[in-house]
Amino acid sequence: MIHYTLVCDDGHDFDGWFRDSETFESQSAQGLISCPFCASTHVSRGVMAPAVSRVGARADDAVKLREMIRELREKVVAGTEDVGERFPEEARKIDGGAAVQRPIRGRATFEEAKALLEDGIEILPLPELPNDGN
Ligand SMILES: [Zn+2]
Repeated sequence: MIHYTLVCDDGHDFDGWFRDSETFESQSAQGLISCPFCASTHVSRGVMAPAVSRVGARADDAVKLREMIRELREKVVAGTEDVGERFPEEARKIDGGAAVQRPIRGRATFEEAKALLEDGIEILPLPELPNDGN
């Protein structure tokens, strides 16, 4: 015998005992299982499976997100020139036409980044990954 917590489409939950999972499936498919509170035969197994899959999905999402950030970083790194600490200065030169137009990356303090944005120079923060060393 196996024990299932069952729930009807009205949200009542109740206990059911079955010889095995196939017995439950076939009785359920034939409408032989009904809710003791409202007699609904739209009955399914209780809340355990969705709770487990939600946890799994969250872990997957974290892995996917990490992978997306890594790919984004790789694309940015491959397509830009690293000007390091000179980033704010170089971005202003490019914006003012004093340097060749090209995509650059580098480091800026929060204040420097804010000043660039206030001057209408478009910059984007590059997301960091933990233990990325960069
Ligand atoms: Zn019910």
